[in-house]
Amino acid sequence: MNAQLPIAASNGSDCAPVLKERGQREVFCGLTGIIWLHRKMQDAFFLVVGSRTCAHLLQSAAGVMIFAEPRFATAIMEERDLAGLADANEELDRIVDQLLARRPEIKSLFLVGSCPSEVIKLDLAKAAQRLGAKHAPEVRILNYSGSGIETTFTEGEDACLASLVPEMPALTDDDVANLIIVGSLPDIVEDQFMRLFAELGIGNVASLPERAVSDLPGIGPNTRFLLAQPFLGDTAQALKERGAQRLDALFPFGVEGTTAWLQAAATEYGIDETHFAETLRPYQARAEKAMAHQRARLAGKSIFFMPDSQLEIPLARFLSRELGMVLTEVGTPYLHRSHMDRELALLPADVQISEGQDVDLQLDRVRSAQPDLTVCGLGLANPLESEGLSTKWAIELVFSPIHGFDQAGDLAELFARPLRRRDVLRV
Ligand code: SF4
Repeated sequence: MNAQLPIAASNGSDCAPVLKERGQREVFCGLTGIIWLHRKMQDAFFLVVGSRTCAHLLQSAAGVMIFAEPRFATAIMEERDLAGLADANEELDRIVDQLLARRPEIKSLFLVGSCPSEVIKLDLAKAAQRLGAKHAPEVRILNYSGSGIETTFTEGEDACLASLVPEMPALTDDDVANLIIVGSLPDIVEDQFMRLFAELGIGNVASLPERAVSDLPGIGPNTRFLLAQPFLGDTAQALKERGAQRLDALFPFGVEGTTAWLQAAATEYGIDETHFAETLRPYQARAEKAMAHQRARLAGKSIFFMPDSQLEIPLARFLSRELGMVLTEVGTPYLHRSHMDRELALLPADVQISEGQDVDLQLDRVRSAQPDLTVCGLGLANPLESEGLSTKWAIELVFSPIHGFDQAGDLAELFARPLRRRDVLRV
């Protein structure tokens, strides 16, 4: 049975009560993260231990590479494995041995769990330990779950990055302070942020993940970290358990979010306020100019976020405050209060926030609100379009470079494009 429980916001942030829903959900599973993670970590290989369905999901989402050797694959569990007739561990060991013999350039191998591997309780943590001991020191073998059981697609990245945290070299009190940007960003965006930190005078900045898994940053009591993505709750917790401190900030979307995100680091490292303002001014001006055109198109238009990527709340803040959009409902799969407090406080007081999903009830609310734009998963977009509603695929927001000043105009454009298409089709 589906439950629908309105509860009051508990922390006094300026937002309406949160509608909590538990019911049928329409989201991709955590395996999807492999598509952007394998592009980022160029010495890593992702071996999904799953079914033909998992293999199809990966191949259709990532495309089939014909000329390049792919850096992900699925070890397909057959009926014999699922029925417990074959020793899945032996099979897995054989496949990993074959893979590593054929691909000596692999330096890190992720064994990625799926619904089928979890259903038969295949212990991939033990398998990673066993195989890691066998193939050390040439190859590091880690594991995480990308299964679709109680998850949403961005949690795959969270689980993957959390699995890297125990591998990070330990730093002590005597080591120089370092700052880690946490979240897989396109290289171009990461480079822009690194240049900005350097211009501000903040040194010793690293990323998690780095482009090579073998270059993991060190971590210790002088480590501070900034979350670049809002869906990294487990990774943040693992970093804290190793002594690092999170710098609380808005997420770096739009001018306001990016400024606040950089400000958190500038304050921590005692950067002069005038220098901070002067350094950022040209970037902010360029971003404002890039957004101006879309602001004219988006201001006053209503938007409904279905819960999907966990980017919903920071993006709603950006669209409402910097582009003048009207928020109808902002759904999120999970509401991580301590990471979202600053964002929630900037949303209009009367906005409906919802956590979790009961898709039929939520679709009823979309139909009743008739928003100008609905952000949703692929599976819901076509039916809504056929009813005359304009949609934006949530997953596109994860695949596209959208962080920072230089991407603010492109981010606004991602929301303006479906409205432009609708206007053209109506003519
Ligand atoms: S992990 Fe589960 S939800 Fe994802 S493709 Fe495989 S079977 Fe489907």
